[in-house]
Amino acid sequence: MTATILDGKRIARDVRHDLALLAQDHEQRHGHPAGLAIVRAGDDPASAVYTQSLQRAAQKIGVVATALALPADVDDDGLRSCLEALNADDSVQGILTQLPLPPHLSPATIAQTIDPRKDVDGISLRSAGNLFLKLPSFVPSTCAAVLEILDRCQIPLVSRRAVVVGASNVVGKPLSFLLLHRDATVTTCHIYTRDLAAWTLQADVLVVAAGKAGLITGAMVKPGAVVIDVGINVRDDGSITGDVDFASVVEVAGAITPVPGGVGQLTNLMLLKQTLLARDLWSA
Ligand code: NAD
Repeated sequence: MTATILDGKRIARDVRHDLALLAQDHEQRHGHPAGLAIVRAGDDPASAVYTQSLQRAAQKIGVVATALALPADVDDDGLRSCLEALNADDSVQGILTQLPLPPHLSPATIAQTIDPRKDVDGISLRSAGNLFLKLPSFVPSTCAAVLEILDRCQIPLVSRRAVVVGASNVVGKPLSFLLLHRDATVTTCHIYTRDLAAWTLQADVLVVAAGKAGLITGAMVKPGAVVIDVGINVRDDGSITGDVDFASVVEVAGAITPVPGGVGQLTNLMLLKQTLLARDLWSA
């Protein structure tokens, strides 16, 4: 068997089209375009590149994405003041704080300060609590991207066995809850899981977000399974590869996302989608 490729680029084109319509609707209803504030601290070049690409994506859709670069030595009080000003700014519907922060800053400052109504990357305490309780919530954009692919490709989840490899706060753990809330039977694996293959072989839907190139091979995948590779690993030559050994898994799986060209194509778009839906989420 050769798996169907779940083509992130094609899906992203469709999503972009839908978001442009949502952006027009937002502007008509509210009299101004939706605004996303991107906060970063320090002058990490990768972070600057990411900000620019997010701003380009926003511009194409019709969202105003404004970057705020704080100095590398900003302290928690400085970060808190910046977030509080954005919380109070009516032209801003979404706030993204780029991670990782410089190590002297506490991630708790963002989680506690960012207004949950603007927390479009789902990292605040309230967002995490809402997700846990299955209340309407922003979710981390990578998790939203995985669900967008599953939904747009009409992958059934009810009663299916879903295995998530990775249990971080930003990907594996929230994704496990989202799949549970879609009535899948979910297992979450992590670095201390013994005999990983015994778990992955049970998966009808296998999502891998471990950050380890080639972790999942064809021998670890149930024939016909849907495999979503979230991993982004940089090879020595600078090229990107996922956590799934594509060459062997494509021969066993029923469907698979490539890396590059899979989940990563949707992540930024999900931030913009949540920015466009922010007002509706909180007025519901
Ligand atoms: P993380 O390092 O915070 O967490 C990794 C998780 O994987 C941990 O729970 C760890 O226990 C588990 N893990 C690590 N090695 C393992 C192993 N050998 N077996 C089983 N479990 C193992 O990473 P993260 O932020 O969750 O990101 C995970 C991957 O997803 C990374 O490659 C990251 O670059 C990628 N990522 C991609 C996108 C995207 O848009 N596609 C977005 C965010 C993260």
